Amino acid sequence: MTETTHIVLVGAGHAHLHVAANAGQLIDAGAGVTLLSPGNFWYSGMASGMLGGEYSDDDDRLDPAALITQAGGRFIADRVIAIDREQRLLHLAKGDPLPFDLLSLNLGSRVDAPSISGIEDAKGVWPAKPIDNLYQLRELLESALGDSAPLPRLAVIGGGPTGAELAANLLALSERYGRKFDISLISASKRLLEHAPRSASAWLAKRLRRRGLRIEMAASAVTYRQGMLTLDDGMQLPADHIVMATGLVAPLLISELDLEHHPHHGLAVTSALHTPYDDRIFAVGDCAWLKDSPYPKLGVFGVRQAPILLHNLVAHLKNTPFEAFQPQRRYLSILNLGDGRGMALWGRLWWAGRLAMRTKRRLDHDFMQQYRP
Ligand SMILES: Cc1cc2nc3c(=O)[nH]c(=O)nc-3n(C[C@H](O)[C@H](O)[C@H](O)COP(=O)(O)OP(=O)(O)OC[C@H]3O[C@@H](n4cnc5c(N)ncnc54)[C@H](O)[C@@H]3O)c2cc1C
Repeated sequence: MTETTHIVLVGAGHAHLHVAANAGQLIDAGAGVTLLSPGNFWYSGMASGMLGGEYSDDDDRLDPAALITQAGGRFIADRVIAIDREQRLLHLAKGDPLPFDLLSLNLGSRVDAPSISGIEDAKGVWPAKPIDNLYQLRELLESALGDSAPLPRLAVIGGGPTGAELAANLLALSERYGRKFDISLISASKRLLEHAPRSASAWLAKRLRRRGLRIEMAASAVTYRQGMLTLDDGMQLPADHIVMATGLVAPLLISELDLEHHPHHGLAVTSALHTPYDDRIFAVGDCAWLKDSPYPKLGVFGVRQAPILLHNLVAHLKNTPFEAFQPQRRYLSILNLGDGRGMALWGRLWWAGRLAMRTKRRLDHDFMQQYRP
């Protein structure tokens, strides 16, 4: 009798949703499949809409346990805290160590928070990831919006697509209640969306200013004390809550694995999505670093990697050739501006309006629908 190969999928990220839903292919090839993640999958594509009140929490999350168990695998609700490669054991935050034969990591990323004196111990600081932070923030803000007391003052740090989208949707949340938050967006870059065409940055800044957003560009927050952010030019901005959207970097666990990695980019992988020196350890999505062809930390890349990861796990079991992942150079991203409009970016092209938002809604809905029970 042949022995079962234990495949452990760590993290319910985009690529692992696909592998979990199709775990039957791995089981048919002789494997036992476990998906291990602390909780639900929260979809970042709909996160800003969820913050802005367009979507409910249920719209924005999936139950990975249902997905894997329906496909014949098992789910463990826990967090990996260390990996023993020699013994092929995962050490978990709560449960007993878990053995593996093949391991795949889809751990996502964390916010690369700048150092701001006084912010470490402050309450009311909300990193944009994990996404469920944003749901907690929305609940708190909605209870303030429904009250007659003065509204909390808000700041978003980061002028990239995430910071701009989140600021737009904080405006949208208060607009739903017919009230206005005092919101500042602070960014070290000279313009919003610094990698987008200048005309797109200018259009977006004008639109957000018109809705009441205060935008401070080419500025860095240096201290935070008693509800006041001080910028590097001495300017002070009131902020009872601060959303950190200052870019994404690899999770800390990646640096502790004794495998080739970059502290920001992630665990080094080959085009076959396994580590260069151990083809029994795979990594995908934001926690992986494709050294020869690095890709940005965006969910769309995990989605594209998913079928290749599944194929290569099956190939490992059957001893057949691996497929290679080649990241696409251009990709469509559509920002939800919270007012029924979207801003679409495709290479150097951009367009904005209600049609862009309708397209985004359809793409996001179709993605989530694949994994609903
Ligand atoms: C507000 C916001 C909006 C965004 N919008 C978009 C967008 O519209 N389009 C886009 O392409 N990208 C977007 N991004 C970027 C996107 O969030 C990331 O690129 C994407 O989530 C990465 O997906 P992933 O599959 O690598 O991991 P994730 O989807 O983040 O999943 C990682 C999983 O690993 C689990 N995990 C983490 N550590 C452990 C551990 N130690 N043990 C076990 N499990 C663990 C987590 O709980 C989670 O389930 C956005 C980001 C933010 C913050």
